Order: sequence, then C-alpha cells, then structure tokens
Amino acid sequence: MPSLNKLLKTIEKNNQKADLDMVRLAFEFANKAHEGQKRLSGEPYINHSMATAQTLAEIKADMPTIIAGILHDVPEDTDVTLKKVEKDFGKEVSTLIKGITKLSTVKYRGIDRYVENLKKMFVAAAQDYRVMIIKFADRLHNLKTLNHQPEHKQKRIAEETLKIYAPIAGLLGIWHLRWQLEDECFKYLYPKEYSELKDKYEIKQQKQRDKLIGVVTNNLSKEAKKNKLKYEISGRFKHLYSIWLKMKNEHKKFNEIYDVFAMRIIVDNVSDCYKMLGIIHSLWMPKKDRFKDYISIPKPNGYRTLHTTVFGPDGKLVEFQIRTMQMHEEALFGVAAHWRYKNPTKTHSTWIDEILKIQKISKNNKDYMKELKFDIFSDRIFIFTPKGDVIDLPTEATPVDFAYHVHTEIGNKCVSAIINEKMEPLNTKLKNGDLAEIIIDKNRKGPNIDWLKFVKTSTAKEHIRRHAKNKGIISSLIGKIRP
Ligand code: MN
Repeated sequence: MPSLNKLLKTIEKNNQKADLDMVRLAFEFANKAHEGQKRLSGEPYINHSMATAQTLAEIKADMPTIIAGILHDVPEDTDVTLKKVEKDFGKEVSTLIKGITKLSTVKYRGIDRYVENLKKMFVAAAQDYRVMIIKFADRLHNLKTLNHQPEHKQKRIAEETLKIYAPIAGLLGIWHLRWQLEDECFKYLYPKEYSELKDKYEIKQQKQRDKLIGVVTNNLSKEAKKNKLKYEISGRFKHLYSIWLKMKNEHKKFNEIYDVFAMRIIVDNVSDCYKMLGIIHSLWMPKKDRFKDYISIPKPNGYRTLHTTVFGPDGKLVEFQIRTMQMHEEALFGVAAHWRYKNPTKTHSTWIDEILKIQKISKNNKDYMKELKFDIFSDRIFIFTPKGDVIDLPTEATPVDFAYHVHTEIGNKCVSAIINEKMEPLNTKLKNGDLAEIIIDKNRKGPNIDWLKFVKTSTAKEHIRRHAKNKGIISSLIGKIRP
C-alpha cells in the first residue's frame, strides 16, 4: 500500500520513537471498515483517510492525532462503532474521533448562522484543539477532490472553508494548512482570477525567479563558508490567494507587489540568526525600514523570525527571513507541533483558555464577538447593526463603508456615526465587534468626494465616484422624474 508506506516514512522522519505498528494496525482497521466503499471520484474510501493522516504527519501532529486521522470516518460512515474503536485504540483516539463526528454538523449557512457556527467550532477546539486540526486535514483532502461534487456544493464548501476553517487554522498558527485551504477555495470561488494569477505568477515568472534565487544562494554560500555558518536556504513563495487579496485591497497590479517571494534561511541557533543577518547586510544594502527583529520582539501571536529586505543582484529587492528550525516549525505548524517543544500535557495555547472563559461569561453572540480580544480574521472585521445583524468588512473600514453596505441611500446621506453609543466622525476606523449606527441627513445631496481618502470597500468607492461624476446628470434627471 503506497499511501501507508509514505505515511510511515513521514512519521519516522519526524519522530524516531513513534510506534509505527500502531499506525499499521489503524490502517488495517480502517481499510477493513471502509471495505467496498468508494469516494465520488471512484477511488477506494481509504485513500481519503490516508490523505488526511498524511497531512497531519506533515504538519508534525502527535501520534494520537495521526491515528485518529486514519480512523476519523469509521464510526460515522461504517458499521464499526466508536466503542469498538475505543477498545482497540484507546480513549484518547476515540475522544478525538467523537469530536470530529460532532463537528460535521457545523455548516456555513450565511451570515445569520455565522457567529453561532464559530462558537461551536471554538467550543470544539477548546475541548481539544487536535479535533480542529484533524478537521482541517480532512477538509483539505475534500477540497482537493471537490471537482467530483456538483457545482453548488463546490461553492458552498469552498465558501464555508474560506470563511470559517481557514481563519481558525491561522488563529491556531497552522499557516501551512491555512494557505493550502485558501488556495483550494480560491480556485473554486474565483476560477478566472485564480488561473490568471497562476499563469502570471507560477508559469511566466518562474525562470526569472529561479535565476535570482540561484545567484543569491551562490553569493551567500561563499560568505557563509568563510564564517563556518551552517544553514539551509529555500525560496518561499506567497500563496496565490494572499497575493490576490493584496492586489484587491491595495488596488495594485501584480507587478506592483514586490514581496511575492522571500528567501528563507534556517540556522542552528539564535546567535547564528544574527550572524547570518550580518552576512546578508554586508553583501547587499538593506532597504530602510524593512528590517524587523521578531526574535527580540516576537509578534503578539508568538511569531519569531528576522526579516530584512535588501537590494539584491541587479538592484532587485529580495526579502530574507532568518530563523531556527524551532521557530520555523512554530511558524508553519503552530499548535500542531507544540508537543515537540513543550510539555505535551500543557499544549493548550492561551487563546483557547480565553475562549473557554468567554464562552462561560457571554450571554449572547454580540457579547461573545465583542469579548474576543484576539484578531480572529486578520483581514475582516465584524460590525453589528442596532438590529443585531452582523456585517463583515475589511479591516480599517469606516462608518461610510458600513453605511454603503447597509444601503446605498444610507451611504449617500450619512453625516456621522454612533459607535458603541458614542458619536464619532465618518473617518473613524471601525474595530471588530463594534456596534455601529449611521446618522443620516435626508436633505443631503450626496457623498463627499473626500471620503475616497479613507473608505476601504470597493462598493463605497464606486458609489462615491459615480456620484461625483454624474452629479449634474443625476440631479437633472431627478428634477425631470419628480413631478
Ligand atoms: Mn473525512
């Protein structure tokens, strides 16, 4: 069985002491339980179970998580009960599988159920975050085989993943999965944009980039050798979805985004990180304001790495990220790989404790969202209307964006806003969980062209521009239509 051998190899590479017999047993157990079952693609069901486990092994999840990954669909989709799984594989594994089965009831059904769904996911994670990790791996394989589903289901699953799963994967620090999930969804939700970008980015620029990487690596290796510095270097590419978001949010063309790729360097220890930085700065001139020392001052989510951008070969800007292997694994795999460095019984990250606390004290969804101190959706914020509806907007959106989102006329006639019961100007930056109400002036003729300086959504921009352009025409039309 090739998928079993591949899995065993990956596990062994990460953990020499792993109990590989347990993996073989789990495989045989699942293979027998799913016997005769096929996926929509026509391939045997067990392929899905093994792909899920493979993803988990790659993000360096612990053994119970990988075993549960192999067995995750057994109780729900076969005659074999959870009790039987527990008897053969123990309580820890069976509890994880029980959690996954529970999670399958969570679905995205539009914004109304959104907060409720999030809550369920958080509660599940708070009990054991490994349940969520298995769910992400499961979802990733489902997305990869999504072309066998009918179109309406493709869109629904992709949207649900993009809005619920991917942000939470990021919150758990499992960026490696978040990026993969997002790119798979991107393909189904924006097929045209996806293939355009893929073509530009991956095919047309490949050669040029490979050449640059080659030159940089060559120069660096000579200096590193002189300094007896051990290191690994690779080119790291931004995933397509994040490039697309950046283009959209900052209204940039593809060739205006220069940080689409970075050189990643892994060294043995912290002092080598700084030595490597010194070498890079001695070879190429650093760009002002682009050096960030996240080792001395880690990001709030714990991210540690040195970042610098230099004027590389031919004056081309090249970004470097320098880190140790531990920093690297923490940055990509987040809580999934925590057990490798920390006490495995204390792997709950602080945010999960925070969620549990909030869950206990919050009485309604509004409080719940308000109390979430951390940034769940790094690129979206959720704003409540006085009626309790939730509107999602890009970060730093203003009351004007909010107003246009509610209704065009409210946008056109807004004069100020009440945010969390306090009167605020229209250029205020809204924050996640704010309660906003728009004050309008019925006699107002239309939007102010200056609003373009601070609005964030394309809807608002469009309305303001159109209004400015057609001012004369519109008012003369209204004059004619109205008696
Ligand atoms: Mn599954």
